[in-house]
Amino acid sequence: MSAIDKLPPLREVIAEHGLSAKKQLGQNFLLDLNLTAKIARAAGDLSGCDVLEVGPGPGGLTRGLLAEGARHVLAVEKDARCLPALAEIADAYPGRLTVLNADALEIDPLDHIPAPYKVVANLPYNVGTELLVRWLTPAAWPPAWESLTLMFQKEVAERIVAQPGSKAYGRLAILAQWRCEARIVMTLPPEAFTPPPKVHSSVVRITALPEPRFPADAATLSRVVAAGFNQRRKMLRASLRGVAPNIEDKLAAAGIAPTARAEEISLEKFCALAREVAKD
Ligand code: SAM
Repeated sequence: MSAIDKLPPLREVIAEHGLSAKKQLGQNFLLDLNLTAKIARAAGDLSGCDVLEVGPGPGGLTRGLLAEGARHVLAVEKDARCLPALAEIADAYPGRLTVLNADALEIDPLDHIPAPYKVVANLPYNVGTELLVRWLTPAAWPPAWESLTLMFQKEVAERIVAQPGSKAYGRLAILAQWRCEARIVMTLPPEAFTPPPKVHSSVVRITALPEPRFPADAATLSRVVAAGFNQRRKMLRASLRGVAPNIEDKLAAAGIAPTARAEEISLEKFCALAREVAKD
């Protein structure tokens, strides 16, 4: 295995700093630096890029990002035990790594790095979906980030890229695909991590489009989609009853059969329905 940098192997780093994995922090570490460099490359050319990494842990992916040429990495880590290991990486890459000991749900990256930035992270499972939904629903579009390259449980990754007619198709697919290009670029077995999780993991690359694919008001679309998928086995005329009093007319105007179910409805039709609902 070729070394990507002159820092010690991650197993040594973990032993030296006593970084036993904590389940409640979603700690499943990647120790193969060739693999973390490959994940960094999946984010595209990093030279000249500012990168936000959530949950650097002992720093495997951080080292991959820096070795692959990121101009500056802001690494936000909740677990203070990781700070000494991360400080060693910062010393090896002077001026290119800022470590913030914080909860990623509590900070605004723009207080620390300029837009546009790329987000690259092996996300903690417990907060991964919440962070993704926040990134996909900013107050203004285009967002401050230009791409998200994120490791999730494979099942979550499949929900992000799902197409109509599949069980995985739902709110996450609509949110991600309305204003972004989303694809799975890598799938890893549990053994790639220390300790191994129970399931496979996948890296999803999400790129922000300059404009939504179809016009719609974000809040209305979100309301319609949430109602439709909350009761996904019900026909839309029933599941969307609370969304608008004359929902059958709205469905008809959007070209949707009132007996259809949410999982059959394309993104384009959901946007058409959101436009009809917004007319009231
Ligand atoms: N990036 C490392 C790697 O690939 O080996 C670690 C990934 S591990 C799946 C998730 C990391 O996120 C852990 O280091 C954990 O302490 C950190 N973490 C968990 N919750 C967090 C939060 N709310 N904000 C920031 N970091 C968090």
